Amino acid sequence: MRTPVFMDHQSTTPLDPQVLDAMLPYLGPRFGNASSRSHAFGWDAAQAVERARASVGRVIGARPDEIVFTSGATESNNLALAGAAEGLKERGRHVIVGATEHRAVLDPARRLEETGFRVTRATVDRSGRVRTGDVASALAPDTVLVSLMAANNEVGTLHPLREVGEITRGRGVWLHTDAAQAFGRVRLDVEEMGLDLVSLSAHKIHGPKGVGALYVRSGLLGSWSPQDRGGGHEVGLRSGTLNVPGIVGFGVAADLARESMEEDSARLAALRDRLLAILRAELGGVELNGHARERLPNNLNVRFEGVDGEALLTALDDVALATGSACMSAKKEPSHVLQAMGLGPDQARGSVRFGLGRFTTGEEVEYVARRVVEEVSRLRRVSASDRAAH
Ligand SMILES: *Cc1c(COP(=O)(O)O)cnc(C)c1O
Repeated sequence: MRTPVFMDHQSTTPLDPQVLDAMLPYLGPRFGNASSRSHAFGWDAAQAVERARASVGRVIGARPDEIVFTSGATESNNLALAGAAEGLKERGRHVIVGATEHRAVLDPARRLEETGFRVTRATVDRSGRVRTGDVASALAPDTVLVSLMAANNEVGTLHPLREVGEITRGRGVWLHTDAAQAFGRVRLDVEEMGLDLVSLSAHKIHGPKGVGALYVRSGLLGSWSPQDRGGGHEVGLRSGTLNVPGIVGFGVAADLARESMEEDSARLAALRDRLLAILRAELGGVELNGHARERLPNNLNVRFEGVDGEALLTALDDVALATGSACMSAKKEPSHVLQAMGLGPDQARGSVRFGLGRFTTGEEVEYVARRVVEEVSRLRRVSASDRAAH
């Protein structure tokens, strides 16, 4: 086993070797522009892109022509919120987003507010889940869009999307979901769940960074407002030369995720449960953040009473963990997700996220558990003797 051990798979994941193999020719001799219609280089690239489009769509029950490639889930979220709101503003100017969304949804939502939309932030319960009834009662005659993440990137909690989808579909309101974490890890189906817009990212499922997709239900295109102007690529929704190697990698990563989802999920959930079991057996004051059942198989978020998460991570220089989302870790503010769940600032600061991936081994889990037990015990002894000295 090699150290440092990477256990932060909600921030990103290592490339699957099969994905790398599939990408290499497109970084080499197969370099064509997928929009070149006049020669074999272009046709080859276009064919590869169309194959990937089908692979990505298949994971969520979407048709290939409903998949728009982007630079990642951040861009997809921006495109979804701004494009939908701009296209629908004559119908209404009210949008509902979840309180625990990723910044890539919360920031565009604030932007909408600045341009005259009303934004309702749906609160969550102690486990990080919205109550379907709260979303239903927040709907107003002028609501045009609801945006709720499929799985939370800090605590792994799954929202009741299917129930919300039934309500939004009945009311003619568009439902967007940021599925960067759920894609390829839990079952998603755009028809069954009534999803109209879905944001996806390749690098959360052992694909390359800098590529993602937005699913756009085909019937919506008439109401869509493109957010950029250029070559009119991707059915006019997103201009710019396609990142062919990245898209090829995304396609293969999507195939692998679909084929191995059941097996990977069962294996990772068992490892995650083993990790929590060891922590609880060896330490007191260990609390699970998030939902006990409705959650990602590869995430564990726990708080250690009386321990500062940052201090713990600093002590654990041989293990890669996080206190919150990667994009927030530059700031020292306690997590907005944990606070929305009702945790106080100190409880939020005492929380640590473990993220497992396809290549995580049982040996690594045992090692991480042992190291965390050692350091939590040590930090608690230090603060106890500090208190005794005062
Ligand atoms: C990682 C992540 C994003 C950002 O995705 P990128 O492809 O890195 O832009 C957005 N939302 C969630 C929930 C994520 O986990």
